[in-house]
Amino acid sequence: MILVIGGGVAGASVARFLAKKYDVTLIQDKIWEKPCGGGVKVKVFDEFGLDKGLIRHLIDEVEIFYKKNKISIPLKGKNLAIVRRDEFDAYLREIAKESGVRIIYGKFLGIENGRAIVRVGDKKEKFNYDILIGADGVNSSVRKAIGLLEVPKVLTLYAKVNLKVNSCRFFFDKKLGGDYYGWAFPYDNLAHIGSERRSFENLCKYLGVSPKPRGYYIPTWQKGIEICKGNVYFVGDAAAQVMPMTFEGIYYAMKSAKILANSIINRLDYKKEWEKVYLKDFAFMKFLETLSKTSLRGVLLNAHKLNLIKDLTISFWLRA
Ligand SMILES: Cc1cc2nc3c(=O)[nH]c(=O)nc-3n(C[C@H](O)[C@H](O)[C@H](O)COP(=O)(O)OP(=O)(O)OC[C@H]3O[C@@H](n4cnc5c(N)ncnc54)[C@H](O)[C@@H]3O)c2cc1C
Repeated sequence: MILVIGGGVAGASVARFLAKKYDVTLIQDKIWEKPCGGGVKVKVFDEFGLDKGLIRHLIDEVEIFYKKNKISIPLKGKNLAIVRRDEFDAYLREIAKESGVRIIYGKFLGIENGRAIVRVGDKKEKFNYDILIGADGVNSSVRKAIGLLEVPKVLTLYAKVNLKVNSCRFFFDKKLGGDYYGWAFPYDNLAHIGSERRSFENLCKYLGVSPKPRGYYIPTWQKGIEICKGNVYFVGDAAAQVMPMTFEGIYYAMKSAKILANSIINRLDYKKEWEKVYLKDFAFMKFLETLSKTSLRGVLLNAHKLNLIKDLTISFWLRA
């Protein structure tokens, strides 16, 4: 019996794949809309057999703003989709259910004598498991329950605002984006915006909006983060599997879920399997992210005025 904690993109995906072979129960805390820009590579729809009707916007270029420059980067076609996370996550849980996963809405509280304690309604229930999967996001309670360190993370502020944007915009001035970047993505007739806490107010002033933001952490991946211990495995934000520099977490959570399911089914070493596929790309992007925190940020960004660099960047993004 496999118990998956968290029914976001990582948990719903790993549960779906494991249900082909095992008895799988998934515990999801609540129905909500994860604070997220909802930007995901379009190829995820074909790779995971998902309904393209979930796509709210199709994006064919991104715009980088830096020191009064705007650089447009075409994405070689409409290769970036924007989804609404409440719809997308609910859809993935529905597919998991159709694949045989038992879904229980409740909150994982901890582990006692090898059993998971879950609050379901106003009762505490105990669940046996042979394998436990922590897909419970950046503040993973499963990590805490087994005494693993939290994943490294950065606090971002995020809001929906009344602003018209047709592409995905990235603001790289430190004032607007801090060590990483500020962003504005379309969300139906509104926009999602976000930035590190210290730069959010400046970003709002720059965009001419004054929303009430919500704070949420995003993992900052680094080499060596533990992603399994004994019969407990982690996937998605709970394993910090968010691409450095771009901060794409949806696609990599789902791809990592596939690697984890395959490793469990075929009794392979999950960490090794994950590293075989992603270590090089994640380490390379971490290197760029580190450079981007230095005075070389301008060099990295301005290089994207050259068509050759735009082309290389997008080819890498589409391949990874
Ligand atoms: C502001 C912001 C913007 C972002 N924008 C993008 C973007 O545009 N594109 C992109 O690719 N990535 C983006 N990300 C990253 C992306 O949202 C995450 O990487 C992705 O959601 C990870 O999926 P997950 O399933 O691992 O975790 P989550 O989506 O966090 O899902 C975890 C689930 O576990 C549940 N849970 C938590 N604790 C418990 C518990 N104790 N018991 C039961 N259930 C529990 C939660 O309710 C949640 O549904 C963004 C992140 C932030 C914060």
